[in-house]
Amino acid sequence: MSKILKVDKVYKYFGGVKANENISLTVEEGRIVGLIGPNGSGKTTLFNSIVGTHPIDKGSIQFEGKEVSELPVPVIAKLGLLRTFQQTRIYGKLNCVQNMLISSKQEKDNFFTMFTKIPEELTTKSEDILNFVGLYQKRKLRAGDLSFGQQKLLELAMALMNEPKMLLLDEPTAGINPTLINGIIDRLIRINKEYGITLFVIEHNMRVIMDLAEHIYCLAHGQLLAEGPADKIRYDQRVIDAYLGAN
Ligand code: ADP
Ligand code: MG
Repeated sequence: MSKILKVDKVYKYFGGVKANENISLTVEEGRIVGLIGPNGSGKTTLFNSIVGTHPIDKGSIQFEGKEVSELPVPVIAKLGLLRTFQQTRIYGKLNCVQNMLISSKQEKDNFFTMFTKIPEELTTKSEDILNFVGLYQKRKLRAGDLSFGQQKLLELAMALMNEPKMLLLDEPTAGINPTLINGIIDRLIRINKEYGITLFVIEHNMRVIMDLAEHIYCLAHGQLLAEGPADKIRYDQRVIDAYLGAN
């Protein structure tokens, strides 16, 4: 299997804070890989570095063999590498379909013309994806009126509109009612299997990451602490200590 993502000796500082220090990891194409670690260990920073939100201080990031560490977010997104956020980013006053259309906005469109001249195939595509995430019945509702869990699903659907090859998901189940968490896990597994999208998932909920990921990386204090198959990582004493704040 080929490596779709290669992070090599990446450093990112915020003033005196070493948010990421000498991080090297790879993600194999077609897999679901996990990224865990205590709060403040540098997980979100690493995702921001990978998708181009901020420049890294040192190191290399390759997506499908191409160096992307100097490229801006939209260019990296066009290559097929997208992320979702810890805080959901939707337009609460627009309905679900409109949110979907915005997420697939072409550069030639502007915000005001895009709702007057909607290509039919784009509406059909939106509805198909909303159906896939279980939101078809809610498609005409304002996104702000959805439950938090449904908003997370909408955000996922919006990312799918852009047909990514790889999705980085920052705590996809954070703040979600436990009874809805299984629904999100199922959707993520189907996105991986049916759409063939490689997933790299930050997750705080250990049960969720064990259900999802085959391979897990664990950060602590901005550094890579441990890596391995999910069933090994969960019993790794270094990981347990990091979560208990023992080191
Ligand atoms: P995690 O996602 O694992 O909780 P983060 O990557 O958000 O951790 O944060 C890692 C460290 O970097 C923390 O100490 C945090 O305060 C710091 N940090 C993250 N983003 C910024 C920023 N934009 N400016 C300054 N410090 C930041
Ligand atoms: Mg975070």
